[in-house]
Amino acid sequence: MPASLADSQASEDYEMRSSANPAARVRVIVREVIARKRDGGELTAWEIREVVAGYTRAAISDAEMAALLMAIVLRGMTARETADLTLAMVESGERLDLSRIPGSTVDKHSTGGVGDKTTLVVAPLVASFGVPVPKMSGRALGHTGGTIDKLECIPGLTTDLSPERFCDQVAEIGLAIAAQTADMAPADGKIYALRDATATVESIPLIASSVMSKKLAVGADGIVLDVKAGKGAFMSDVAEATRLAEAMVEIGTRAGKRVVALVTRMDEPLGRAVGDALELAEAIDTLRGEGPGDFVQLCEIVAGYMLVLGGAARDAAEGKALARRGLLEGSGLSKLREMIERQGGDAGVVDDPGGLTANAMQTPVRPTAYGYVSAIDGRRIGLAVRGLKAAAGGQKALCGLILHKKTGDGVASGEPAATVLSPSDARGAAEEAGREVADAFRMDERAPSAPDLLAAVVEA
Ligand code: URA
Repeated sequence: MPASLADSQASEDYEMRSSANPAARVRVIVREVIARKRDGGELTAWEIREVVAGYTRAAISDAEMAALLMAIVLRGMTARETADLTLAMVESGERLDLSRIPGSTVDKHSTGGVGDKTTLVVAPLVASFGVPVPKMSGRALGHTGGTIDKLECIPGLTTDLSPERFCDQVAEIGLAIAAQTADMAPADGKIYALRDATATVESIPLIASSVMSKKLAVGADGIVLDVKAGKGAFMSDVAEATRLAEAMVEIGTRAGKRVVALVTRMDEPLGRAVGDALELAEAIDTLRGEGPGDFVQLCEIVAGYMLVLGGAARDAAEGKALARRGLLEGSGLSKLREMIERQGGDAGVVDDPGGLTANAMQTPVRPTAYGYVSAIDGRRIGLAVRGLKAAAGGQKALCGLILHKKTGDGVASGEPAATVLSPSDARGAAEEAGREVADAFRMDERAPSAPDLLAAVVEA
């Protein structure tokens, strides 16, 4: 139904210029909408809803939608249009009903990067302080890994939870991590696939509405967004990542949510582990208080803001201090164990995460020069691991690498800077990945200065 006077007039106008046939009317609408956006005009909420609903039920073709997406890439959208696009995508599918979960629920999202296993640490850590965390996650996208692939390395564990089971589990133990279902924001799934095929991914309103439609369909009260900037990330520079962060905060605020977006640097892989089972093991080590410095720092910041939104901390500094204490005391590890058991997994993995890759073949990687590491190209590392996984067939989880050296570390002549892990019958692929990884290291005579991990905080 049209929501405003302008919407209602637009609806009547289209009605007059087309027959009463809904299929004919949607064609008139989409043509006008494409032409107006092409010329830099603004679309009404009603038009956006009609187009998104029409595309979801296949009344609008891929060609029409692709033309509109390209017009949006070139002309942009206002904050109001972007929020309306997001809500239209939310309305295209199911929404969770979190109302029976006591307390203020908090979700998080990362725009993704190489070695980013933050959810596996911060979700149980925050839940261990009594803040409920309903987390729907995705699978690997491009050169970045997905939380669900990492979690599914645990024997027996399911991430395929019905909405009822998901909400019950969060109500009872304060935490569930499940795979995003196709029933939630299905318009986004369809539009994302078309964007991927038509070079229309790179647009702030399209990325922001895509991410936020999935968050709003879950429906948590608070959302912490980790927007990555740098070589290993979707957005290569901080200014662009900040604009994306602002767009997402605006959408969430308009929808009545409390949203904080953190712009964090990702010029090299996060932590030392890249690859599903290795990242899961590193997350478990981190929950035990034994994580690598950059990753621990990020987890404390993200968990700190989640604790603020969940009402367990007064400000970010207090939240961060609580998160640090939780990591040292291992409270998040107990919560992760509880979650694994509830989702049918073998909780023994928590006691021996290294066991997951114990049978992997190890191939040392030596950079082509020695000195100080001045940069590690995260994208190249991510692509090398993806290539290795493709060659490993059913043993993908074994594939990955451990970085012994990070930016700023010294490497002596002949010293390994990383180790590639693979199934023993994938020697050729492991050697090829090793060459890629060696080339990803940039060396210098002097150690570079490290910029702060947290580049900006965007709040409403
Ligand atoms: N992740 C999403 O979910 N959507 C985008 O458009 C980009 C990254």
